[in-house]
Amino acid sequence: MGEIPEKHVGEAGSPKQHTSETASLPDQVGNVGRRTMEELVEDICASQGKTQLSLGPLEKVYVFWLAGMSCDGCTVSVTGATEPALEDLLTGSIPGVPLVILHHYVLQLEAGDHYMQSLLKAEQGKLDGPYVIAYEGSIPDENLTAGGEPFAGEGSLPLWAPSTERRRVSTAEWVKRLAPGAAAMIAVGTCATWGGIPAAYGNITGSMSVMDWLGADYRSALGLPVINIPGCAPVGDNFTDAVQAILLFLQGLGPLPEFDELGRPAWQFSETVHRHCVRAGYYEEGVFAKEFGDKECLVEIGCWGPVVQCNITEKGAVGHQGGCMNAGGPCIGCTMPGFPDKFSPFYKSPPGSLFSSNASRLLGSIVRPLRRISQRERNREIRWHETVPSGWAMEKGDTSLTHKILEFFYEAMQFQGAKRPEKQPAKKFPPGHQSLPDRVYDGDYQVLPEEREKKAEKRA
Ligand code: SF4
Ligand code: SF4
Repeated sequence: MGEIPEKHVGEAGSPKQHTSETASLPDQVGNVGRRTMEELVEDICASQGKTQLSLGPLEKVYVFWLAGMSCDGCTVSVTGATEPALEDLLTGSIPGVPLVILHHYVLQLEAGDHYMQSLLKAEQGKLDGPYVIAYEGSIPDENLTAGGEPFAGEGSLPLWAPSTERRRVSTAEWVKRLAPGAAAMIAVGTCATWGGIPAAYGNITGSMSVMDWLGADYRSALGLPVINIPGCAPVGDNFTDAVQAILLFLQGLGPLPEFDELGRPAWQFSETVHRHCVRAGYYEEGVFAKEFGDKECLVEIGCWGPVVQCNITEKGAVGHQGGCMNAGGPCIGCTMPGFPDKFSPFYKSPPGSLFSSNASRLLGSIVRPLRRISQRERNREIRWHETVPSGWAMEKGDTSLTHKILEFFYEAMQFQGAKRPEKQPAKKFPPGHQSLPDRVYDGDYQVLPEEREKKAEKRA
């Protein structure tokens, strides 16, 4: 394990002369802010008044983002989150939520050993707050590497030692070092939660999920098993929302968040995509897309939505916009443990849909014409008896007898046990009362212009 030196030559102090440990350590390349993440957060807090920090026992929480076999898609998603945004967590903008000090290889101000020393401090219990690990990507079996170089590594140890004395550290090793002391271990994205694409058939890296790697007995320092936020890539809001819910609970300001038997936030993953899909109405009426770009239900071109647990249809991809079916893409089950193998070949109708889509087709063939009749009648104002005063080429006066009979029974059922809406009873007005239009038009004003004309002619 690398030691953190007490004093080194070379000043890296920020222009603001922060009194940080960094100032006493060797200079670094690439830190344009010339300060640590903690110092940045302190500055933001100072400018905001720190009002939110007095609401609970926690003032700050460190989050260490580690990446294994990943494509960085989870990072892209989470940095695009909007409800709450990552910036909200990092700047203490959410009332009651402690400050989040994120150590992320993309967003970090510090570089090199300055960046890595925070991980060592966490392991050595030298941080002034609890820490959480967010792990993106699957964990490879590092025993399978050639020459001992990790498949997925982060930094090298010992810190500040000459390169000849160092070795690269795999992210799997960081998990081993940091997982026991972490307040929570959050697996972000399907590679981390279930194994995902790096763990698919044919992989040569022995990749697996965080849960597989740590085992069922793993508990964090707060007694939590691994928390799983799947998706390839996940909805960024699902991560920030879960972090927010956990932190509010730890502050004593929110309920205990509920997780399902696979460690997924239950409020995010208990529903299927299909139940909230914008195309679900087409499925129910048995109308299906034949090719990409069609507007109907996508099940016959490979949508697994009816069995997949995912909330993208409610949350959208970013800022409540987009999402697979909204953008025309069938669900390929990317949030599910079996992804990708159990959902391949992609874009082929799932075998189970054969029964249900044909059942919908049959039911739809009866329901759709009936709905059209009902819909047509509901497109008419109550005063439009035979004529519709529209200049937009609506058909006029062609209500068939069948339609009238069906509508008669429909209305009878609609108002069974309920009061049918009526015109205002005349008794509301004093006897003999005549409104101004009554006096002018002799009670004929409540008819359409054409009829009014005819009645005027008769009066004349
Ligand atoms: S597109 Fe998929 S999720 Fe949407 S209604 Fe069809 S089967 Fe269900
Ligand atoms: S709808 Fe399906 S493919 Fe799209 S994000 Fe959800 S699980 Fe993945």
